Amino acid sequence: MVKPRRTKILATLGPATDRPGALASLLSAGVDVVRINLSHGVIDDHRRRVEAVREWSAAHRRRVGVLVDLQGPKIRIECFRHSPVELREGDSFVLDAALAADAGTREAVGIAYTGLPDDVVPGDELLLDDGRLVLSVDRVVGSAVHTTVVTGGELSDRKGINRRGGGLSAPALTAKDRRDIVAAVDLEADYLAVSFPRAADDIHEARELLRGAGGDGIGVVAKIERAEAVAAADEIIEAADAIMVARGDLGVEIGDAALPEVQKRLIHQARRGNRAVITATQMMESMIENPIPTRAEVFDVANAVLDGTDAVMLSAETAAGRYPERAVAAMDRVCREAEKNRTVTVSHHRLDECFGRVDETIAMAAMYAANHFAIKALIVMTESGSTAAWMSRISSGLPIYVLTSHPRTRGRVTLYRGVYPLELDPEQEDLGALKGRLLERLARQGLVTRGDYVVVTHGDQLGASGGTNALRIICVDDYLNHGE
Ligand code: PGA
Ligand code: MN
Repeated sequence: MVKPRRTKILATLGPATDRPGALASLLSAGVDVVRINLSHGVIDDHRRRVEAVREWSAAHRRRVGVLVDLQGPKIRIECFRHSPVELREGDSFVLDAALAADAGTREAVGIAYTGLPDDVVPGDELLLDDGRLVLSVDRVVGSAVHTTVVTGGELSDRKGINRRGGGLSAPALTAKDRRDIVAAVDLEADYLAVSFPRAADDIHEARELLRGAGGDGIGVVAKIERAEAVAAADEIIEAADAIMVARGDLGVEIGDAALPEVQKRLIHQARRGNRAVITATQMMESMIENPIPTRAEVFDVANAVLDGTDAVMLSAETAAGRYPERAVAAMDRVCREAEKNRTVTVSHHRLDECFGRVDETIAMAAMYAANHFAIKALIVMTESGSTAAWMSRISSGLPIYVLTSHPRTRGRVTLYRGVYPLELDPEQEDLGALKGRLLERLARQGLVTRGDYVVVTHGDQLGASGGTNALRIICVDDYLNHGE
């Protein structure tokens, strides 16, 4: 019997997945959600990729979610006359907002973000190229930030700048992001990821812009990648539908050593707040070049599963790497093995809390029943998917099947741990027959057997959102053909 994997895999699409046959093998290897990264490439390429995913989905009758990731206000240097330049420890170097975009030298370079001179003070440390180079701020003169090189190295065009400790004040949504939000709605994304939010208001604003563009059904993912977002995590989590532990930029701002503890805390906060969480960046980094992961990468993916993440993400490994399919396969096997650990299948979640709604109460009661009785699976008939979202916040080893007529809801739940979307056509399907067919399928896969029970939740009226008010426990025997 092959149990379905509970942890979801996100894979970023890019040039490497455009190679003939690459996308199909990537998706077949077990990708649940694809990420379209708007920091790179042109929208026509992205549109082609999304269309190819949708075609594959239709042909294989397996919904793959689409997450569109905004570029955000990544603060970058401009270009050099002759790139790259070599900066040495002790050199003076100037970041100058007034310098022409292509006029950089070993002494000075332009910056696209003109607010930088106002944001820094002497003594600040600026990290370039994901922290590979470090500059210490000596003084600010007008538009020019004068620094001394603390850690030198090669510096090339348009590399990113972060301040240690965070606090650069660029707003989260740029003019490009605003245009890209319209494109995301047009692409019928399931999720929109907001890069570098500072506070909950940035998420509210993205949601407003989505609504204005006709995309209010699109889930908003807050990428936690600034120091101040960690401090405001509870409010950001409440404002968003999911968060991403964006370890790349976050590690530069808060320091790499702080990441493991912050990752654990953010995952815990997201689950407690009933939101989904993605763990991202460098999970299988060495597989950009190599066919197998390092042992450290195997541990990293497994530890994220043990921390309780909903999903793990691949970036350049799939978008630009040599072995996209193998990277997915490696994640798949590591997640499955980690999921056997007891700590991720036994729950103490929300034991001492009161619930706010009838459907939430049904969801919690269903999981309590399921975890303490001979239940082998849950079948959730839902409009919005919120019943399944609550259920999947509770640790259990049990699959949660979502039956819904809404493609959006099927797309939404692709991200939730242990949740699997199935199509329901209420016009054509008789519910009893449908349950029978589903249970026969689970029996064929060895997931249920005679004598087992399954939990079913639904509302009195099919089609009413938030109307789940019933919990039934059915015996598999009553639905399987007798005499086989
Ligand atoms: P990015 O975000 O890949 O868009 O930079 C993720 C991260 O910073 O970790
Ligand atoms: Mn980032």
